[in-house]
Amino acid sequence: SQTIADTLQKLNISAENQAASSGQNWFSTDKGALRDVFSPVDGAKIASVYAAGPADYDAIIAQAKEAFLYWRNVPAPQRGNFVRKLGNALRKHKSDLGRLVSYEMGKSLQEGLGEVQEMIDICDFAVGLSRQLYGLSMHSERAQHRMMEQWHPLGIVGIISAFNFPVAVWSWNAAIAWVCGNVCIWKPSEKTPLTAIACQKIAAQILAEGNLPEGISSLILGDASIGKQLANDPNINLLSATGSTKMGKSVAAAVGARLGKHILELGGNNAIIITPEADLNLALMGAVFGAVGTAGQRCTSTRRLIIHEDIYEEFKARLIKAYGQLKIGNPLNAENHVGPLIDKDAVQNYLQAIARCKAEGGNFVVEGGVLEGAEYASGCYVKPCIAEAKNEMCVVQEETFAPILYLLKYSDLSEAIAMQNGVPQGLSSAIMTNNLREAELFLSASGSDCGIANVNIGTSGAEIGGAFGGEKESGGGRESGSDAWKAYMRRQTNTINYSSDLPLAQGIVFSV
Ligand code: NAD
Repeated sequence: SQTIADTLQKLNISAENQAASSGQNWFSTDKGALRDVFSPVDGAKIASVYAAGPADYDAIIAQAKEAFLYWRNVPAPQRGNFVRKLGNALRKHKSDLGRLVSYEMGKSLQEGLGEVQEMIDICDFAVGLSRQLYGLSMHSERAQHRMMEQWHPLGIVGIISAFNFPVAVWSWNAAIAWVCGNVCIWKPSEKTPLTAIACQKIAAQILAEGNLPEGISSLILGDASIGKQLANDPNINLLSATGSTKMGKSVAAAVGARLGKHILELGGNNAIIITPEADLNLALMGAVFGAVGTAGQRCTSTRRLIIHEDIYEEFKARLIKAYGQLKIGNPLNAENHVGPLIDKDAVQNYLQAIARCKAEGGNFVVEGGVLEGAEYASGCYVKPCIAEAKNEMCVVQEETFAPILYLLKYSDLSEAIAMQNGVPQGLSSAIMTNNLREAELFLSASGSDCGIANVNIGTSGAEIGGAFGGEKESGGGRESGSDAWKAYMRRQTNTINYSSDLPLAQGIVFSV
């Protein structure tokens, strides 16, 4: 029953329009374009925000540089203490922040809350990590010499995020980057600035309470042009960019031209292989959730099912029945399975993909379409649909960010794996089977070529403990758990001579 106005108030988001912020300090010296933010849930205007202008940008960079000079010398476990406090503050604000994520982005309330939980989890992970930024020690080939490696912070980490995970992606990067001794500048999606403002306010409060420099956490609002500025800016020591493959290619070219560092987390075209030895109940749940969850707007959404010919017809019939039971509507209502797409442009992309699929010979066994009526007044609600298709069709080779599922048929597993790998993207993949040989082949060097390969769970919904990311056009970056932290630091190899001689490496003799 809580109104969105109440939620915004509880998250300390005022009607006043912001452009950029370092800590609690808002810059609005030369406001750029004003952009209205609409909810895809009901089409209502939630607020307007300014984009940062050039002076705002320069001020943010200056604050971040200054903050880094301090932060890099703070012991890592103390940096972890800041992240621990942030995680606790997120626990306190979970319900309001989750609600705002759901309302601004359109995902279900459960998924909005889940996204905030993911932020809390990565904070916990980063706190532990702050005592474990281990380097190796090596045996020198020279007597009375010691070799070791150390990991030092990079500097300013820029974070460009996509609309579909409006807050979690920031935390995956920022929590790790901070314990590693970096400062962060976040450019959220222009489609979801309010959740970002809410997070920045929470982080800023904790910095202020700890008398820490404001520039440790900065926010800069704007569209692709601000993202391009970050990509071209040598002050940005690492740019972690999440979004479409088109964006990633542009960022890679700009960062590459200045020989900078980047982490790219881009689009996917994820498939589940369903073998005759699968538990079909489990396969059905995994496939339906993967394809329609978040209205097909996850980078890990299931876009293709590669089904063995012996079970194809049976599984297709069960899918059609399951799709018939889906409830589409307001994502804040827990009874609904599928919420809206982010905006009307996304609806157009969905309709165009359906038309292209039909033109290429696709056969829709569950038809799509845009929903009309009072409950769907935003114009962003679409029907999840299913088409029988061929892997080589152009539309199947692309990621359409909407709930369109393609059914592909196979007769032997090597053919299924070739199909699974036979797309430009390489993010997430799965096999449904109870056969050990099939599962292990899928995970082997001649199996899936994706960054994520699962057995008996679907393609979507990763845990923060593992390194997250994909291959090929999915970008090649890794974020979050495992040793992904190493990308946020620079490695330094040290050789220390504690003898009174100066022997050279490789036995070289040099005397004067
Ligand atoms: P998008 O590429 O349109 O925008 C993403 C972000 O990049 C936004 O902040 C945008 O302003 C910025 N941007 C766009 N063009 C840019 C450029 N040339 N230079 C610098 N910045 C630029 O993507 P979207 O529609 O917000 O999100 C959906 C896409 O993101 C899908 O392709 C999805 O698969 C992908 N995604 C990937 C992951 C992952 O971890 N692999 C996670 C979430 C989303």
